[in-house]
Amino acid sequence: MPENILNVVIIGSGCSGLTAAIYAARANLSPLVIDGHEPGGQLAMTTLVENFPGFPDGIQGPELVDNMRKQAARFGAGFMTGHVVKVDLSQKAPDGRKKPIEVNLGRDTLLTRTLIIASGASARWLGLPNEQALIGHGVSSCATCDGFFFSGKEIAVIGGGDSAMEEALFLTRFAKKVTLIHRRGQFRASKIMLDRARKHEQIEFLTDTVVDDVFDADKKEVTGLRLRNLKSGEQWDFPTSAMFLGIGHTPNAAFVGDQLARDGDGYLIPEEYVCAKAPGVFVSGDVADRHYRQAVTAAGTGCMAALEAEKYLEEIGK
Ligand code: NAP
Repeated sequence: MPENILNVVIIGSGCSGLTAAIYAARANLSPLVIDGHEPGGQLAMTTLVENFPGFPDGIQGPELVDNMRKQAARFGAGFMTGHVVKVDLSQKAPDGRKKPIEVNLGRDTLLTRTLIIASGASARWLGLPNEQALIGHGVSSCATCDGFFFSGKEIAVIGGGDSAMEEALFLTRFAKKVTLIHRRGQFRASKIMLDRARKHEQIEFLTDTVVDDVFDADKKEVTGLRLRNLKSGEQWDFPTSAMFLGIGHTPNAAFVGDQLARDGDGYLIPEEYVCAKAPGVFVSGDVADRHYRQAVTAAGTGCMAALEAEKYLEEIGK
C-alpha cells in the first residue's frame, strides 16, 4: 500500500468530530479533521450553552467548540478545510485487491484506514431576509439550548410536526405565552403531541400562516415577525421576543449515497453502537441521531467512534 494512507479521517468539526479527534489524537493516531461549510457545527452558531457538564456558569457555544479544537490540536490532530463530495467505502479495487477508504474532496482524494462520519445535521431555516443575522439573538432552532433566555417573554414557534410541538411545550416552562405558527391547517405531529400542545393554556395556534420576515436585525434582538395568512393574503406585524424553528433538520450525509443504511430522512443508521456496515467506518453525532441531538450526546458518540476506530486499527495490525 502507498505511504500516504491516513489512520483516521474525521468528517466534521462539530462537537462530535472534535471529541473523536481528541480521543484519536491521544491514542497517537494523528487524525485528520475535515472542516465543512459549518466549522464548529451547530455549537458555533449558538450563544450561551448552559447544559454542557462542567461549566457551572455556562459557556458560549463558539468558545466551547474552539476549546475542543485546541484540545484536539494539542494532542496532534490535523485540520483541513474541504467539502466532501463523495466517499468510497467499498475498500475493494476493480481487480479485487483491498484498497483504503477514499474521501473525495473534489480536487483531492484522501486515503484512510478508518473514517468517522460526524458531519452533523443542519437545522432547516426559513430563508427570511433577516433570519441569519438574528440567529443567536432571538432566532433559534434549539429550545433546549436557548429557551431559558426568554423567561417571562412571548415566543413564536414555527412548524407543525413533532419537533415544533415539543419545542412549544418545552418553552412554556419559560415563556409567558407561546404562539405556534404553522403554514397549514393540518399537522404532521403525532396526535398525542398535538393534543398536548392544543390543551396547554399557554400555547396559542396560528394556522395557515407563514412568516415573511423577522425583525429587528439593527437592534440585534427579535422584536417581531411579519406574518401572512395564506387564505386571506392579509399581512400583519406580530410582536414577539423570539422565533424558534421546528421545521426539521437535514442530516449532512449526501456524500455517503447508498453505501450505508439511512432512514427515510437520510439519517445514518449504524449496525451496532457507532459501527457502520462498512469495516473501519464509524458514525457519530447528529448525522446519526434524529432523537437526542444534544452537544453532550454528540460528544459521547464521537468518543465511542474514536475508541472503535482505535480497536479496529489494532485488529488490522496498524
Ligand atoms: P417534520 O415532521 O418533517 O415536520 C416539519 C414541519 O415543519 C411540518 O409541519 C412542515 O410543514 C413544517 N415546515 C417545513 N418546512 C417549512 C417551511 N419552509 N416553512 C414553514 N413550515 C415548514 O419534522 P420534525 O417535526 O422535525 O420531525 C421529524 C421526525 O422526528 C418525525 O418523524 C417526528 O415524529 C420525529 N420527532 C419525534 C419527537 C417525539 O416523539 N418527541 C420529537 C421530535 C421529532 P408541512 O406539514 O406543511 O409540510
